[in-house]
Amino acid sequence: MRIGLFGGAFDPIHFGHLRSAEEVREALALDEIWLIPTAHPPHKDARDMAPFGHRLAMTEMAVKGMRHFRAIPIEAERQGLSYSIDTLVELKKGHPGAEFYFILGSDAFIWITSWKDYRDIAGLASIVVMGRPHDNWDDMRNVVARAFDGYKEERQGVFISSKGLAIYLQQVTHLDISSTWIRRLVSMGRSVRFLTPEAVIKYMEDNGLYRGFVQELAWRILENKGENVVILDLRGLSDFTDYFVIAHGRSTRHVHGMADKVQEAFSLKGVRPLSVEGQTDSKWILMDYGGVVAHLFYEPLRGFYDLEGLWSQAPKTCLNGPDGEVTEDDEEI
Ligand code: ATP
Repeated sequence: MRIGLFGGAFDPIHFGHLRSAEEVREALALDEIWLIPTAHPPHKDARDMAPFGHRLAMTEMAVKGMRHFRAIPIEAERQGLSYSIDTLVELKKGHPGAEFYFILGSDAFIWITSWKDYRDIAGLASIVVMGRPHDNWDDMRNVVARAFDGYKEERQGVFISSKGLAIYLQQVTHLDISSTWIRRLVSMGRSVRFLTPEAVIKYMEDNGLYRGFVQELAWRILENKGENVVILDLRGLSDFTDYFVIAHGRSTRHVHGMADKVQEAFSLKGVRPLSVEGQTDSKWILMDYGGVVAHLFYEPLRGFYDLEGLWSQAPKTCLNGPDGEVTEDDEEI
């Protein structure tokens, strides 16, 4: 059996991973692709990732019922950092007859010499480097020449060692999708349809994964002395957004300043509102981030619009604000 091993954080898995793996499978006539979510990857901080169980479950769901594809939980049981070489040795032991193809992206291959026992990986499996058309393939040839002894380029992009193992530089369609982008969209309550399989989307929704944005937004408002900060959970109640974050400021100037600071903080991370309304006189400002809408009021107007009364059936979370002092600047409307 010719088996492609494709490891990744898969936080979450997406069509970029799946499509490129499928193209490798076809190009190298592999019988199966085994997707291996990494438990504690050495190059990423596991604390910043969704728990392993969730990443594995999403990977399983992405390929459920798909011919040639399987999710393998092999890294679940091992303690400590998940080194690819250890995984490979274990798989080799468990499947002595299998011919393994170790698949990785060109972004990872460029750093292969920093991997534990990377030469041994090439001794146990052929290596398949997935690259994009505009990648610098000569850079990758240089990595092969520098890092691996005794390989000759026998056909374009195919290096064969004296022992008959191979390194393939394989061009694939690199869909412009990343897990980071998906996490960011989800955190803003935006759609991720057609970026990852429907079952993965449902799993993320059911388990509330990557939903940090609403809390962060509320916290940013609080940090800027927003008062009586409240989150209304409108999921299932509203068609146009999932959450309202409501707060007030003591003056129009305060409201204006808060809105600016909040937008500034998020735009540093590349997150911008779809629209902002009410900025001219700042008696109220609405910042629409898609799945989350922030309503900032000048204090006397909050009661007048009474959004909490209008949406009284929505579950509500109140954040306690600090005792913001009213400065002189803050006092005039
Ligand atoms: P993140 O955005 O969290 O860094 P990611 O989308 O790059 O994640 P990983 O799980 O880190 O996904 O990727 C595992 C492997 O998949 C890497 O070797 C990477 O090169 C490859 N890969 C990631 N995105 C794509 C894509 N859109 N097309 C092809 N390969 C991809």
